[in-house]
Amino acid sequence: MTIQAFPKNDLHKIETGTLDVPPRLLLGPGPSNAHPRVLQAIGMRQLSHLDPAFIKIMNETQELLRYTWQTDNELTLAISGTGSAAMETAVANVVTPGDVVLVGVMGYFGERLVEMASRHGADVRIIEKEWGDVFEPGEIYAAVEENQPAVVMLVHAETSTGALQPLEDIGDICREFDCLLLVDCVTSLGAAPLYMDNWKIDIAYSCSQKGLSCPPGASPLTVGSRALEQISKRYVKTDTWYLDLNLLKSYWLGDTRAYHHTMSSNMTYALREGLRLVAEEGVENRWARHREMAELFWAGLADIGLSCHVANPELRIPSLTTVRVPEGVDAKAVAGRLLNEYNIEIAGGFSKLSGQVWRVGLMGYNSRPENIMLLLAAFKEILGR
Ligand SMILES: *Cc1c(COP(=O)(O)O)cnc(C)c1O
Repeated sequence: MTIQAFPKNDLHKIETGTLDVPPRLLLGPGPSNAHPRVLQAIGMRQLSHLDPAFIKIMNETQELLRYTWQTDNELTLAISGTGSAAMETAVANVVTPGDVVLVGVMGYFGERLVEMASRHGADVRIIEKEWGDVFEPGEIYAAVEENQPAVVMLVHAETSTGALQPLEDIGDICREFDCLLLVDCVTSLGAAPLYMDNWKIDIAYSCSQKGLSCPPGASPLTVGSRALEQISKRYVKTDTWYLDLNLLKSYWLGDTRAYHHTMSSNMTYALREGLRLVAEEGVENRWARHREMAELFWAGLADIGLSCHVANPELRIPSLTTVRVPEGVDAKAVAGRLLNEYNIEIAGGFSKLSGQVWRVGLMGYNSRPENIMLLLAAFKEILGR
């Protein structure tokens, strides 16, 4: 056998330095900085995805997830991928083609739910709010009564606007009309009060890189008994193999585990450590800390003449504030200077709020007084206040 000799292509063989990255303080809408203990955990040696030692770590991660979600749901797991992967898992598994789905849209992530539900074949009905506003239970009641949906989809913390949707009364409405309640908790989990079971949420998902202080890559998902029953008796299979909960269930639950895909052990170590930190602090103390830090930040903003986009403090996300950009100020230029001169990342608004707000995240490990002081001082300097 002869090995055919082609001319060697060295075009892409670049010389690179040792990896080094700027020490950014990530105060945008996500990712947030991972806790040092999480970064340490991620460097631990690998285990294979079916090693009994790894299954034990998976089980512990699931228990800590149940605690963080405040749920007894057996099917509580982490999806391999970012929050959007968990989002697509939830949507794809509860939607069967032709189902009427009611989506509450009060910002970009509600729009994304509409897009995903339509791609998976739903007959989507929409109710809308101004960006920064939230729905009243009565408005949801009326829309559910009119549309008789199979699923109601809402965003708890709308990261594009800074508004926190109250959920206490929605579960009962969905039970009355016998439909499922799906909730996006990507920005709220580990940061804002969230009672999966008491609020009667049927399926919810989140991410690792916002309130849980991990890198992105393993995203929490929890499925209640009503949703699970519907998923188990689907008359057509979910139209995605990788995110099919009927398959994932056999990998995440039970005494004998079936291979589905190679779950990253290192990402699972990270998530487990992030969740241990939640349990050590106590989830209710963690919610209180986020709220306290947010109030400190809002007071500091007022001191330098800046205001919040969401007028009612009770409806603001404790881990993500939308700050109004003052008249005549170039929002992008300010964010650019924060990054280049202070190594602080914040984000601007987009779509309907483009140029009108900055989005500031104080999430998980980053929700600390010294970060607030630093950001306020930098704002003051840049804006000349
Ligand atoms: C960040 C975010 C997502 C998407 O999560 P990714 O990890 O970026 O894929 C979905 N919904 C909301 C409300 C978010 O804030």
